[in-house]
Amino acid sequence: MKQLSLCLLLCVLFIFPLKSENYDIIIQNVNIVDVEKGRIVKNKDVGIQQQVIKKIAIGNQLSASDSTQVINGKGKYLIPGLWDMHVHFYFPDKEYLKMYLAKGVVGVREMTGYRMEWRDSIGKNTNVPRIIFSSQIVDGPTPWFESDIPVKDCKQVIQIVQEAKKSESKFIKLLSLVPRDQYMAIVNECNRLNFEFAGHVPYSIGIIEAAKLGQKSNEHLNGLLLSCSTQEKFLHARLDSLLNVVSKEEKLSGIMKMQIMGCTTKALWSFNQAKADSVIHELSKYNMFQCPTLGVKHRFQYNELDWVYTDNRYDFFPPPVQKRYRPDAETLKKLKPFERELKLQEKLLYQMHSEGIKIIAGSDQGCAGFNLHDELEYFVNAGLSNAEALQTATINAAIYMHKEQKMGSIDENKLADLVLLNTNPLENIQNTRDIKLVIFKNKIIQPDPLLEAVKEVNIKISNIDPFEKKFD
Ligand SMILES: [Zn+2]
Repeated sequence: MKQLSLCLLLCVLFIFPLKSENYDIIIQNVNIVDVEKGRIVKNKDVGIQQQVIKKIAIGNQLSASDSTQVINGKGKYLIPGLWDMHVHFYFPDKEYLKMYLAKGVVGVREMTGYRMEWRDSIGKNTNVPRIIFSSQIVDGPTPWFESDIPVKDCKQVIQIVQEAKKSESKFIKLLSLVPRDQYMAIVNECNRLNFEFAGHVPYSIGIIEAAKLGQKSNEHLNGLLLSCSTQEKFLHARLDSLLNVVSKEEKLSGIMKMQIMGCTTKALWSFNQAKADSVIHELSKYNMFQCPTLGVKHRFQYNELDWVYTDNRYDFFPPPVQKRYRPDAETLKKLKPFERELKLQEKLLYQMHSEGIKIIAGSDQGCAGFNLHDELEYFVNAGLSNAEALQTATINAAIYMHKEQKMGSIDENKLADLVLLNTNPLENIQNTRDIKLVIFKNKIIQPDPLLEAVKEVNIKISNIDPFEKKFD
């Protein structure tokens, strides 16, 4: 009798697959990459309805209705859509944002407060990734970049926080030159308004204090080497006196910039591992995310002479930007000393990750979309597993945004921003570049036609070097 009922059950399962829920999209028989557990869940059907993963079932169990778009996922790998957590919208033409989507980057954190006017056109637009906007950049009375608005005093900085809170901005973006009193005013006002602040750890504060005070993220591992230096006190005093002079000037001179940067170089040469151990251990007690942007360090500080990207991204770089990415031998010689800094930062990044500090992936700049994949590879080179590298651009980004219940991994009831890969990213992290298609806001995106469309726009803007005036 028991055998009979089991037989019946099996018959029912095979003859009548799960009832159609009117899925908009079904991906059949796909290998799901579980980024959190670092494993492949084989041969599943994924049913999507109105941008949400409604059902994950055994392969070939979900049935399609007439309107369902069916994707054959056999032998392919499904990962959550990627987030680039440090970008700048320098280009004036929104069209280039398609590059992010073509490369599987479904969301970005914009770090300049630029192009807020684009927010109105985002909504259902499937050509623009999801965006978190920062406030305008806050960098003290004499900002590093002339294009940033000087912030004279605490009154002005409080006003900026209040205006940002009212606008679509999600956080205050800090750079390195924020004076201590203004930083404290930001902390108080943000606490009062339940608002976030993120960006560079300013020289006037230091990395541990910033973490204690609730800074949401630290970019470029700023302040880390300073705090690991045996000369820490001396260097902070030196920076304070330099910043005091700077605050009274109208414009930051090249010499002043070099003197400030010099403190970082000194920190590098007085690095102490025991100090680093205690700093990182202390940092692990707080929730400050680290967005290391190793790609920038690689591109500007560790460029090998034979550095050439093997993919087709040069087709999309405007020529002035290409020049930056292919520096001449003379420039490379000057950059050589930074090799030591990069190696050390990679080591410390791995140490922070091992202590449980959350890492988020950010490209900072470069070729939209393409560079995030480099960043994941750099993380793996620094010691993270392939799955851990994937976490930095998926679940960790979701945790950063307080949305881990709704996105960041492939589970039922989570957002169906997804990337279908031809090959397994847990075997080789470079396989995140091997994109078959992207599912974004219920639309199936084929990468190649999208990139072709962008090429035309890039020809139009080819004489603009967006990084000439500023990069941070
Ligand atoms: Zn930046």
